[in-house]
Amino acid sequence: MASTIKLDVVTPERVVYSQDVEMVIARSLDGDLGILANHAPLIAALKIGILRIKKDNRFSHLAISGGGFMEVSPEKVTILADTAERPGEIDVERAKAAKERAERRLASPRDDVDQFRAEAALQRAVTRLETIEKERS
Ligand code: ATP
Repeated sequence: MASTIKLDVVTPERVVYSQDVEMVIARSLDGDLGILANHAPLIAALKIGILRIKKDNRFSHLAISGGGFMEVSPEKVTILADTAERPGEIDVERAKAAKERAERRLASPRDDVDQFRAEAALQRAVTRLETIEKERS
C-alpha cells in the first residue's frame, strides 16, 4: 500500500475534508505543488483553483476559493481557505449565474476595484464549474 499523508481542508465555517491520502496537488501562487508523504515542511499561498486529491488510487477534487494557505509537514497537509466545496455541494446554477454576472461586469468596466472583484468572482465560478466537470470525467 502507498504511504499516506493526512489532509485537512478547513474553512472558517467547517472542516470540509479530513482523510489520509496518497497525494495532494494544490495550485500555489508559484505553480502547482504535488505533495506526498514525508514532504519537506513548507507554507504556500494558494490561488483560486481546484485541489486534486489522490486516495485509493483515484482522484477527487475540491473547489478552493481565494485567501488560501497550505501548511505541509512530513505527516500532514493543512489547507485553510475562505471557502472550499466538494463537487456534490456545488450549486451549478448559482455558479453559472455568478460567472455571467462577473463577465458582464468585466465587459463594462467601471473602476479598478470592481474589475479586480469581478475577475476573482469569475475565477471562483469557473473553478466551481470545472470541479464538477473533473469529477465526472
Ligand atoms: P456568489 O456570487 O454566488 O455568492 P461567490 O463566489 O461570491 O458566489 P463566495 O463568497 O466564494 O461566493 O462564497 C460564499 C459562500 O457560499 C461560501 O460558503 C461558499 O462555499 C458558498 N458558495 C458560493 N458559491 C457556491 C456554489 N455555486 N455552490 C455551493 N456553494 C457556494
